Amino acid sequence: MNHGTPHHHSHTEAMLSVEDALDRILSFFAPLEPIRVPIAAAGGLVISEDVVSHINVPPMDNSAMDGYAIQSASAAAATERAPVTLPVVGKLAAGDLPDTPVGPGSAIRIMTGAPVPPGADAIVPFEDTDEVDRRKSGLSLSEISIRVPASPGANVRGAGRDFTAGQKVLSSGTLVGPAQVGLLASLGHATVSVHRRPTVAVLSTGDELTEPGLPLPGGHIYDSNGAALAAAVTEAGGVPRQLGTARDDIESVTAKIDEGLDSDMLITSAGVSKGDFDMVKDVLTSRGSMQFWSVRMRPAKPLAFGLLEAGDGSGRAVPHLGLPGNPVSALVAFEMFGRAAIASMLGREPAARPRLRAVLTDPIHNYDGRRVYARVVVTKRGSTYYACLTGDQSSNLLTSMASANGLAICPEDAEVREAGDEVEVIMLRWPPELN
Ligand code: AMP
Ligand code: MG
Repeated sequence: MNHGTPHHHSHTEAMLSVEDALDRILSFFAPLEPIRVPIAAAGGLVISEDVVSHINVPPMDNSAMDGYAIQSASAAAATERAPVTLPVVGKLAAGDLPDTPVGPGSAIRIMTGAPVPPGADAIVPFEDTDEVDRRKSGLSLSEISIRVPASPGANVRGAGRDFTAGQKVLSSGTLVGPAQVGLLASLGHATVSVHRRPTVAVLSTGDELTEPGLPLPGGHIYDSNGAALAAAVTEAGGVPRQLGTARDDIESVTAKIDEGLDSDMLITSAGVSKGDFDMVKDVLTSRGSMQFWSVRMRPAKPLAFGLLEAGDGSGRAVPHLGLPGNPVSALVAFEMFGRAAIASMLGREPAARPRLRAVLTDPIHNYDGRRVYARVVVTKRGSTYYACLTGDQSSNLLTSMASANGLAICPEDAEVREAGDEVEVIMLRWPPELN
């Protein structure tokens, strides 16, 4: 396929491996253009520029303890038995600017985070002085006795110890979390440039579908894919735009797809299996170039992927991922392909789920040479993980997906994985019991 020829009709129907399908899909995605956002909104996004500090952090030497700022030489020989008593010539709280220097043989009372006054090179914490005893016995705090030898630099947090002016603090491509947001704030930045979140339009197709919240007419089912896929888009870091449902006719599907063409990606469900194939194919190929694939996986064999012409006349191509209709198939196909596409647009590494090896408690059968992703509950006994099927693996049974915490793999070239065999499991959730 080619971005420049949106009307090219392409009806390839090859049996693709999951990896080949993913490679083809990802070749049409790249990080979206950068935007500036308030730093606190940057969590989960990827920085699109190197961030260099123009200040030292901390900006000045400051105290790591509540205590007394002194010249270490004044109390180098102080002991419990022979304390050194110094006059207290001032006090400093965090946020103060020192105005009195510390000379040989004097001290300034200082709080954590306050700038170290000129002349001082050590902070003696309260607990190494007689301050508490003085307070108890009503003695004046105009002088203080130091009971422990002081050493140069003790409890002083040096200017620039975290990072210095001119230093690259964050590199382009870094995923932002709370610590990175804190770093950006500590060097004085209110905003940061990141790859923006993709908007993903989600459309369900089918004459039988009714939106949740409405009465259910005879012969209908509720549209579960729309909401489930919107939640999956959010979890992957995208912004879902729910287009609702389209009926199985050309006008309805065309109108709804047109509504989604100002998004960064369009996801539809249903209409890609044999029965509906031709109608959806006609609509999609009239709007762009589509490919209909059989992917060597179970569930979720039928998949459509292509490029549609953006609605804004820009000539931009909007990638379209056409997922199968069965609710489990739609979610598993999104898991394999949709998440990676969103990660690519965010500029993130493909957000691989944790994987583990578990002992099967039930067999997984593979009837037709496809890679089976079986819904399982993984538990841990001792140091061994066990994977138990969540029951009937029909792809219309959402309860079997809702109760699963992982997808156990039976490879395409194996006819069965027996109970007792060890298999690879993709973990969709990681309950604390597994630690
Ligand atoms: P199709 O791909 O249109 O043949 O649909 C396959 C199966 O998935 C049928 O049983 C549909 O009723 C069901 N299905 C399709 N779309 C949805 C949806 N949005 N929510 C729940 N089930 C659906
Ligand atoms: Mg249908």
